[in-house]
Amino acid sequence: MTEPITRLIHHPYQPPAGFAGPQPGVFKASTVFFPNVAAMRARDWKRKSGYTYGLHGTPTTFILEERIAALEGGLHCVLVPSGLAAIANVALALLKSGDEVLIPDNAYGPNKALAEGELAALGITHQVYDPMDVADLAARISPRTRLVWLEAAGSVTLEFPDLIAQARLCRERGVVSALDNTWGAGLAFNAFDLDGRGLGVDVSAHALTKYPSGGGDVLMGSVTTRDEALHLKLKLTHMRLGLGVGANDAENLLRALPSIGLRYHSQDQAARALARWCATQSPFAQVLHPALDASPGHTHWQQVCGAADARGTGASAGLFSVIVDARYTSAQVDAFCDALRLFKLGYSWGGPISLVVPYDLASMRAAWPPHLRRGTLVRFSTGLESVADLQADLGQALAVALPA
Ligand SMILES: *Cc1c(COP(=O)(O)O)cnc(C)c1O
Repeated sequence: MTEPITRLIHHPYQPPAGFAGPQPGVFKASTVFFPNVAAMRARDWKRKSGYTYGLHGTPTTFILEERIAALEGGLHCVLVPSGLAAIANVALALLKSGDEVLIPDNAYGPNKALAEGELAALGITHQVYDPMDVADLAARISPRTRLVWLEAAGSVTLEFPDLIAQARLCRERGVVSALDNTWGAGLAFNAFDLDGRGLGVDVSAHALTKYPSGGGDVLMGSVTTRDEALHLKLKLTHMRLGLGVGANDAENLLRALPSIGLRYHSQDQAARALARWCATQSPFAQVLHPALDASPGHTHWQQVCGAADARGTGASAGLFSVIVDARYTSAQVDAFCDALRLFKLGYSWGGPISLVVPYDLASMRAAWPPHLRRGTLVRFSTGLESVADLQADLGQALAVALPA
């Protein structure tokens, strides 16, 4: 007979099977038990047929991986602790010393920083290409090019590239294409079937921190593919780097995912309404939102996102930027951002609260993009507040800080 403390730990009770509720159960584990040594030796950490160790997956993370893959039109998915970790997982899995990676000039900033820092130190070179010129990308692909990053719309400046031509070019030249799919989130277009005839990217990296989380309170990323061999390569690096995610974070994601479509479209409508209003305000020299006719890459946005929406109006993330006319000083633009009350100063997007960030574009780009007016860039992301209240907030801050 064992002591009570041992009976407490090795308690034989098992709840009845067959429980079903709206959300899947949350399994937390570093240790996973095996029935015997033979099973321990036989189990394969790479496949979802069994469990070996918490880092390699639990029922909770497997369920989330399958749902993200379904959302994005992929077949395989690995979860990582942040969107940036997804970018790093892709780079480190596919590149080795002597290889080159091509990154669009309007890429998410830390993607370039990773190339300039860790990748360069490993002997991996990179080039920055013009996202709005497919010929420029074509000219930079060499036998050393092993990975091309794509991003649509571009971070901060929201130009929409000719994604179909870019994906086709990568396919023709036999180079792996990886899309940062955070903006589209699997809802604006299908990264694995851009033209309705199966032309897509090879890899989709997604900052689940944004729309899938929807709360501004969880960091997570994913890497989704359709090709099993490519997935296993990514998964091997994922395992070696120890890029697991926490069960409670996965639980939060699973709880938020069912409403992602409602949130995405609601924030889309709000951003469009505010972007159109901003286009009527004289302090703003330019408004950047791919659904606006005059925005760079609007026709490419229509081509890829237009058909995805039953209303025929296309889908877009709840982001837009303005370029404040160069007659205002950057101190005045800072004062405008400070004067906003509902738009909070903060990075990221996809949560319930609207956000604003002023950017120093000159320091972020190789050269000032010819399609952008001179001035100071401010990016907005819409939350879930009333659009009328957000517009009034922009109006009062304009009156205070940027007199016409
Ligand atoms: C936020 C973001 C990331 C990084 O996601 P984190 O979870 O914050 O690391 C990557 N790409 C894009 C386009 C993003 O907006």
